[in-house]
Amino acid sequence: MENHLKTALQAGKFLCSAELILERDHSAPEAEAFVRDAAREARGVKVISLTDLPGGNPSLPPEAFASFVLEHGLTPLAHLTGKDGNRSFVESRLHALARMGVENILALTGDAQKSGYQGKAKPVFDVDSVLMLWLIQALRQGLEYNVGHRQVRTSPFDFFPGAAVNPYKTREPDQMMQFHKLELKIAVGARFIITQLGFNLRKLLELKQYMTREGLGHVPVVANIYVPTATIAKMMRAGEVAGCVVPDELLRRLEREKKPERLERAALMLAAAWGLGFAGGHIGGFGLTHADFMKIIGRAGEIGLDWERRVDELVFETPGEFYLLPCGSDGLSDGKGAYQLTQVKHHMSWKQRLSMSVHRLIIDPKSFGARFLRARLKRESESGDSTSKSKGFWHATMGLSAVYRKAALGCMSCGDCIQDYLSYAGCTMHWCYKNLRNGPCGGSRLDGSCEADPILPCIWNMVYLSTLATGDDPRRFARTLIPPRDWCLDQTNALANRLVGLDNYCKRVEVESPAHPAAAAEI
Ligand code: SF4
Repeated sequence: MENHLKTALQAGKFLCSAELILERDHSAPEAEAFVRDAAREARGVKVISLTDLPGGNPSLPPEAFASFVLEHGLTPLAHLTGKDGNRSFVESRLHALARMGVENILALTGDAQKSGYQGKAKPVFDVDSVLMLWLIQALRQGLEYNVGHRQVRTSPFDFFPGAAVNPYKTREPDQMMQFHKLELKIAVGARFIITQLGFNLRKLLELKQYMTREGLGHVPVVANIYVPTATIAKMMRAGEVAGCVVPDELLRRLEREKKPERLERAALMLAAAWGLGFAGGHIGGFGLTHADFMKIIGRAGEIGLDWERRVDELVFETPGEFYLLPCGSDGLSDGKGAYQLTQVKHHMSWKQRLSMSVHRLIIDPKSFGARFLRARLKRESESGDSTSKSKGFWHATMGLSAVYRKAALGCMSCGDCIQDYLSYAGCTMHWCYKNLRNGPCGGSRLDGSCEADPILPCIWNMVYLSTLATGDDPRRFARTLIPPRDWCLDQTNALANRLVGLDNYCKRVEVESPAHPAAAAEI
């Protein structure tokens, strides 16, 4: 059966996909009606994107509905998150999707948990979008693993994975970390990108301009075209739908508007996405029928290039909004302008200074301190058990580092420390709700606070600023892949593990730039 998503993206044909929100019920009559209508219409929407427990609430998973989509001759795009299941469960779901013939996967980190039976559910987040893409890459080739002494390989499956990016961040750290994580996602296998929903065409265009300048122009980007009601817009502003920006002016208009005006704005945005060279429009909106989608698509065709005269209807700004590029004469960003990154000198905190000094003295593998301690720890381990839980004087001294790390950095004793990678800004196992290790989710709020807890700043913004403070380039977050936590090391001493080589430090992967011509050929 034709994969309409892959065919359109590879042929450079503008694609219109529909996002169906699967709800907390197995019957899904509205989603079924949408699919039937789409299948009946020769020029109807051919790619149906199926959400994975959106908003952090229980719901029908995509694998329960994908076969219905396939039976109707349409192409499913299954969202997949690691918020509700660990890496084993995610892999198992991928096997299930492969068995159904679902090739298109949108790898997402997932929203913070909101509800659940008898109370809020436990957040899992064992793998995020980047690690899921890495896993999918392995499954594409056939994943090798051991059964006893025998090596086994899973059957290769031609997944077509994509990823999301939020180009609507209003502050520099949030936005730049989104862009760096995007590069990492492409480097580990994302073959297409779908944006977060948003209502500022200038910000949307900046994403494309950035990708072009960074050599990623070959990766197809599908613009999210969302039709909000005033009620949904208020929920987004209240942080109930993570990572969405709804400026005051848009909300004022939505409160006055009826459905035809909302569909007209979506059509205008779709026409602009087409005109600006996006690979397609990913259309969504609560309660929309397939007929509404066809109205949006048809009207976008009528608008054509006329969107250029109506740019002001598509740029809804937040006061003080960060733009990477200067404004051009058309009201959108000038793709040839210089990056407007901060010139402010950030200062290192005392914790950062102290931690980095200690790193230079005893953690850096080439340091005298590291070589001295490694020799003694190894000797103790050889004379006892081979784990970092070994007893002995030098292992006991490691306890001091654990006390410092807990007090200064919020260490949770994962035993597989990445503080050096985080510029000693603080432990993401403690300060990041999703315990992420490869960059932020897209959910931080307007003021840079965490999606899950508005009291806390998103730790990844601190990581960005702390990295600048050291004089290092935050682009390195686009180049290093941190493997998932090794749970064998939980509650063991991270310093001892690092020194004797038990942690995942050696398994970090320096990825090739996705701007590389070989990577471009792969897409
Ligand atoms: S700390 Fe940042 S990355 Fe972590 S969950 Fe909160 S918003 Fe997302």
